Amino acid sequence: MIEFRIGQGYDVHRIADGLPMYLCGVQIPSERGFVAHSDGDVAIHALCDALLGALALGDIGHLFPDSDPAYKGISSILLLKEVYRRVREKGWSIANCDVTIALQAPKLAPHILQMRTTLADATTERLGFVGRSEGCEVWAVVLLLCKSASALPPRMEPAK
Ligand code: MG
Repeated sequence: MIEFRIGQGYDVHRIADGLPMYLCGVQIPSERGFVAHSDGDVAIHALCDALLGALALGDIGHLFPDSDPAYKGISSILLLKEVYRRVREKGWSIANCDVTIALQAPKLAPHILQMRTTLADATTERLGFVGRSEGCEVWAVVLLLCKSASALPPRMEPAK
């Protein structure tokens, strides 16, 4: 029997002048980027939290605390690899994922193909935090599948 789990992730980072902008592991040409302890890849952070949430493995802030100098400026691709390694270790793999990015500027269309995990993007009509170009929000949802019933996350085990 194949088991399924859904995970949802969300992250938000402020935008500031003079910082690099990374989304889905791609450096987007921009004079502004995301304020963060890591490289600020808000899309990957949301995806990591979706993966972790699907299996009740905690969250990205718990795994990679911003108080730890080891993660200063780290590529979020490395964080995603570690998160997915943990998911795989438990016997699960990604069936599908979808990432929605709300960002006023720059336009991401030229970069979508390069941002392989991104299936949808959306812009607001200059409303709120995102519309004022003050920040970026990302929602991610992921579906995991597992072909081994013994790989259920701990909270899913039947009560004894
Ligand atoms: Mg983050």
